[in-house]
Amino acid sequence: MPNIKSILTDTQTLPLNQIEELLSLLEEALVLGSQVGQVYEEVKEFRFAKGKVCPHCHSELVSRNGKYNGKQRYICKDCRKTFTDFTNSATYRSKKSLDKWLKYAKCMIMGLSIRKSAKIVGINIATKFFWRHKILDCISAFLGTGDAEGVIEADEIFFAESFKGTRPSNMPRKSRKRGKAIKKRGISKEQICVATAMDRQGNLVIEPLCKGRMTHRELEGLYKVHIGENSILCTDSHKSYIQFAIDCNLDHKRIKTGKHKEGIYHIQHVNALHSNLKKWMGRFNGVASKYISNYMYWFKWLRTFETERDSIKTKNFIVQSNVAYSYTKVSEFKTRVPQFN
Ligand SMILES: [Zn+2]
Repeated sequence: MPNIKSILTDTQTLPLNQIEELLSLLEEALVLGSQVGQVYEEVKEFRFAKGKVCPHCHSELVSRNGKYNGKQRYICKDCRKTFTDFTNSATYRSKKSLDKWLKYAKCMIMGLSIRKSAKIVGINIATKFFWRHKILDCISAFLGTGDAEGVIEADEIFFAESFKGTRPSNMPRKSRKRGKAIKKRGISKEQICVATAMDRQGNLVIEPLCKGRMTHRELEGLYKVHIGENSILCTDSHKSYIQFAIDCNLDHKRIKTGKHKEGIYHIQHVNALHSNLKKWMGRFNGVASKYISNYMYWFKWLRTFETERDSIKTKNFIVQSNVAYSYTKVSEFKTRVPQFN
């Protein structure tokens, strides 16, 4: 009969990869096991903070409708459809248990590749890819565009257009580059412009804006309701910001090229953010343009919660992906088209 002493002795004789396997087994049993219950509770609390709402039609006229597989069911008196606490969440209808999702969330937070995560979680690579974007669709909805105010630094970053994962029949032309971040020089229509505005409290708006050069109208379309009145906008010398600042009645500080600092008005924080973003995106070896927005939100999430402990991050990542409503089906990923054509 093995006891803890004999197990510990045996453990010392195991090769490193098997010790790691043992560790992840223990972790799963201890941490993830206790988190599953927490996730259920927190999703319910968050989702229905203002009372039960129908995930199909958003009506508040709902009532309990018995239990199914141990889960409480509800019925909507308006659309007559039934639902559970998790209907239309990222993990809804998943055949895998929630602890596998938590394990995968941890891999995403650690920045592991799809291949490596698939191995750790024990599911195939295609499934992992869908999980990644199911989670990110929900995280995007959860975070939303956000708002910035006060002293705001704004700038753009470009990613080469990529049709990775798009069927050749749906592709407008052969993809040459692979979605990597590129220098600003030589901006063309084959580049996706991502606009970033961040204030000094760390609030961040980061969204794909257009293909190629941006105009003041595109800036207005994105920022108008997300930048606070009486804010002070700091940008480089890009002309489109001038008209945008006038139209939105913002005090505008243009930082001349080569000049890095004018007192508190500079764009060093947004520049540093973009260089981190570029480095972080490098690991994906080019992302399909249709998913650029999801990656921006992933980056934003990591940055927003960077000071949290890893176990809390993992739990919150899954809670938030289940709080927001997702209507994404796997088949939709195959036909999803880029934001800009
Ligand atoms: Zn309904």
